[in-house]
Amino acid sequence: MSPVSATYWGIPGYAIFWVLFAIAAVLFAQRLYFLFRLMRLGKAENRFDNLGQRIKAMLVEVIPQWCNLKTVTRKDIAGIGHALLFWGFSLFLISYIIFIGLAGGFGASSAIEGTNFEVVYFSILDVAGVLVTIALIMAAVRRYIIRPERLEASAEAGIILILVFVLMALNVAVVGFGYSAHDINASWPPLGSALAGYLSGSGLSQGTLEAVYQAMWWLHYLVIIGFMVYIPRSKHLHILVSPLNILFRPLGHKVVLKPIPLEEAEYFGAAKIEDFTWKDLLDLYSCAVCGRCHASCPAQLSGKSLSPREVVLNLKEHLLETGPGLLAGKAEVPPESKAKTMIGDVVTEEEIWACTTCGACQEVCPVSIEHIRKIIELRRNLVLSQNKMPESAQLMLRNLQSRGNPWAGVQSLRLRGDWTSGLDVKILAEGDKARTLFWVGCTGALVERNVEATLAMARVLKAAGVNFAVLGDAETCCGDPARRAGYEFQFQMMAEQNIATFKSHGIKEIVATCPHCYNTIKNEYPSYGGDFKVVHYTQLIADLIRRGKLKLTKELNSILTYHDPCYLGRYNGVYQEPRRALQAIPGANFKEMERSKNNSFCCGGGGGLMWIEEQPGTTKINQMRTEDALKTGADTVVTACPYCLQMFEESIEHKDIKDSLKVKDLVELVEAAMKQP
Ligand code: SF4
Ligand code: SF4
Repeated sequence: MSPVSATYWGIPGYAIFWVLFAIAAVLFAQRLYFLFRLMRLGKAENRFDNLGQRIKAMLVEVIPQWCNLKTVTRKDIAGIGHALLFWGFSLFLISYIIFIGLAGGFGASSAIEGTNFEVVYFSILDVAGVLVTIALIMAAVRRYIIRPERLEASAEAGIILILVFVLMALNVAVVGFGYSAHDINASWPPLGSALAGYLSGSGLSQGTLEAVYQAMWWLHYLVIIGFMVYIPRSKHLHILVSPLNILFRPLGHKVVLKPIPLEEAEYFGAAKIEDFTWKDLLDLYSCAVCGRCHASCPAQLSGKSLSPREVVLNLKEHLLETGPGLLAGKAEVPPESKAKTMIGDVVTEEEIWACTTCGACQEVCPVSIEHIRKIIELRRNLVLSQNKMPESAQLMLRNLQSRGNPWAGVQSLRLRGDWTSGLDVKILAEGDKARTLFWVGCTGALVERNVEATLAMARVLKAAGVNFAVLGDAETCCGDPARRAGYEFQFQMMAEQNIATFKSHGIKEIVATCPHCYNTIKNEYPSYGGDFKVVHYTQLIADLIRRGKLKLTKELNSILTYHDPCYLGRYNGVYQEPRRALQAIPGANFKEMERSKNNSFCCGGGGGLMWIEEQPGTTKINQMRTEDALKTGADTVVTACPYCLQMFEESIEHKDIKDSLKVKDLVELVEAAMKQP
């Protein structure tokens, strides 16, 4: 007989169970409703498009636990433990619904008791319990014995580990005591039956066995009911929320920056927690505090104060502190949070300006949190509403406004089209039409070292018979540095101006050498009416080699390693084409860096940081990346981004290792390999 069918102090077990369940359900719903109302404080954002596709993508990510398993590396297998916990716990959850919700709660236990279904399901739970216990041991060892830096040994984590372990033990105990109390001789489920066999021979009376069985049963379900109340109030809220966060993640491009309606806004960016969108606030609930973002962040690893994990957790805490006052429509918030400003106290300016927008945090986050756009929203507020930014950023933005490029110094004395002098390249004049535009970018057009790569690119395109034109002096910045620095006015102006220029020349296809331009024109211009086919030059070159339009015949006899630019790799998934092009070079011995492809490490130049001073007293990110290249034993580090090229040049110069390591743009090597000996 199921313990819910028994009577306790004259009260039917069903009644006790459902009263307890109802109390827990009310507390559960109350908390979720509160969190929902807090989330609704955020600004509107449409993430309900393509719902069918979203649901499918979420199920594909969550059920096979790809969200966790994709983070598994040889050095970090915690994702396997998480997946085991998820699958094991899901089986238990289903059992609670079947055996209690349906059979026990509705009084249908007799329909299930003793059936093959019960035996099979209990056996599955036995196995699931073992898997969950293995996962718990792994988690406890990692958190309390060999704790990696990314994990915190919090009391909350310990409570959950203990409670889940207690549940697993109670599951076996309930079957063991139940079977022995009711004289059931069975060999399945294996653990429960083995315990029952032991108890039957232990000399305990039937009455004792029955009493312990009932106590264990109630304790088991009290823990489950307690979980319902505790989970939404704890850091384990992510168990409930993260599937939703995965459901509403960006479907296409991973970093969605919302255009600002410039004429409508009273102030810009995020100055208060409710200036973020509801999706940004949902992100905060979803954090599992796994610390993967913290452990991958180049700013954090180079000693800066920024930790993407802490940004998320601090914003969450701020939302929970200030939210109740906001919901009540009161200006008053708890005294401890009253004096806090979001920018300054919750997230510092130093943290905000330390981000290279490299995307490493988002790449490793198992619950698809979007860190970068929060940081950009904070920058937007600093720049547009508070006129606060590092001096170096001010200079860059002034240059953009006055000259259409971010460069100062000797570069500013050049004209953008100077690099074309003496070359047989078609420069578009007013009224000229062209199908394919070679978009050079500010750095490729103006910085001496990068001009070498631009010239190589033009020669390679001509050698391959590609019919292209350039804008010459009429080209201007794509707006990427302005956008990443939060200066949205300037970006929108440049985007609109460039789109009008492209349209006036009838441009259909744009070949960009700079991954930042490529990303901006390809993924961000469509919001402003600019829908063009945009390719990165590495894609074009790989295709030209494949079609036999480019023949690489000269042996280079070099050991090469390739640095994935963040805006090409992580932002746009272009990993294979550059490698295919390099591997087509005769005599090139290719070595992969330990941190490569989606796990690549930033050069330190993205997010406007090419022009913004790194926090003093910290390691330079480009030097860390140069160390990665040196470890491969390569004599040449190859990249496909003008910023990365610059950052490596600077670091090689600083380390004084020019004799042992060179940096080349991929197109320079392709051109060198094309020449006949
Ligand atoms: S984008 Fe890169 S630098 Fe910025 S927080 Fe994420 S990992 Fe750190
Ligand atoms: S933001 Fe994502 S990666 Fe970072 S700690 Fe939270 S769950 Fe982990």
